[in-house]
Amino acid sequence: MALLVMKFGGSSVSDAAAMRRVAQRVVATQRAGNKVAVVVSAMGDTTDDLLDTAEEVSPGPKPAREMDMLLSAGERISMALLAMAIHELGVPAKSFTGAQAGMRTDAEHGRARLLDVQPGRVRATLDEGGVAIVAGFQGISTDDDITTLGRGGSDTTAVALAAALDADVCEIYTDVDGLYTADPRIVPSARRVTRITIEETLEMAAHGAKILHLRAVEYARRFTVPLHVRSSFSDKEGTWILVGRPLTEDTMEEPIISGIAHDSSLGKITAVGIPDRPGAAASVVGAVARAGVSIDMIVQNVSTSDAHTSDLSFTLPETDGATAVAAVRALQAEMGFADVLYTSHVGKLSLVGAGMRSNPSVASKLFAALADAGVNIEMISTSEIRISVICDQSDLEDAVRAVHTAFELDAEEAAVVYGGTGR
Ligand code: ASP
Ligand code: MG
Repeated sequence: MALLVMKFGGSSVSDAAAMRRVAQRVVATQRAGNKVAVVVSAMGDTTDDLLDTAEEVSPGPKPAREMDMLLSAGERISMALLAMAIHELGVPAKSFTGAQAGMRTDAEHGRARLLDVQPGRVRATLDEGGVAIVAGFQGISTDDDITTLGRGGSDTTAVALAAALDADVCEIYTDVDGLYTADPRIVPSARRVTRITIEETLEMAAHGAKILHLRAVEYARRFTVPLHVRSSFSDKEGTWILVGRPLTEDTMEEPIISGIAHDSSLGKITAVGIPDRPGAAASVVGAVARAGVSIDMIVQNVSTSDAHTSDLSFTLPETDGATAVAAVRALQAEMGFADVLYTSHVGKLSLVGAGMRSNPSVASKLFAALADAGVNIEMISTSEIRISVICDQSDLEDAVRAVHTAFELDAEEAAVVYGGTGR
């Protein structure tokens, strides 16, 4: 008998019919001889709708505690309805809020982090032969207030629950058949990846792939939770994400490239003509960090010999552009640099693959493919298993398709997208 955590995202429980389909799937899985705990997201666009209503009631900043009370309600609706739908099929089911499921968090409303997971009531329900359903994306703080984990946080709830229950697998049900070599909404010829390492998945999630919440992937790596990402709209096998597996001979058989992630929501700041002396980068980057903005890629050019100045460029979420520009401008007079430039609408393409470690030709092939597609590269950064380039946002989708083809990732048949927006 296996213990499974099955997590269903918003598009999988968007209305009553979808809810009944999920109930059938859960019941079939349990009847096949498994213990099943379920984690659900809010139905369809419920979280966005709640945010809109809050904005109508109180434009601008709102009490964070009350926002969490409000947003956590979305998942509570799903869990209760799903419990009823499962009951209807003759299987006992009990729903639990994050607090009831033992999800203890810090008190950072809107982006709480899990501190401790004690799912005693969930375990008791499974031991009694029932299905336990847990509301995703929420917990209870050390001050006993309701918290939420940040947008997309239900994946993290599912992985944390799977870790605490020592589940055999955490299944993430979504609206595509798994992880693809690129977003199938942009590259219809994208290929489903059958298995991928957790390190590659982390790189994909950190660089714009929307399918899994980054924190959930980090949690899965830390607690070695095997993940299976698959569609709730089909019975097809999805993508297995392998944890704790050393990269040995059998991984050498794997493709050099596992996928292409892209991010079209970035901006770029350049501080021009910074006097070349120790501490300059620390000052600029420090000021941006203190403004609460996280920086992505940083490039400093080599200082020109006579001027003794250099330019420092970095990318950041487009939505933080104004805040970060103000923080850098505030340093301009004191540090004596020439100008601060801001470009919105930059895009990032990231090529990810454990196999590129041992393959030196990947970078040149990537740059040649972009050149052939007429895409200008503005910045480059690499890790052991990733190469990222920054380009103009309007070139990004063409760039992704060109690189996908250049690395021979195209499949014969078009990928199926069952619903949702991929966000
Ligand atoms: N309902 C929340 C959101 O939309 C959490 C989730 O779906 O994972 O962000
Ligand atoms: Mg989600």
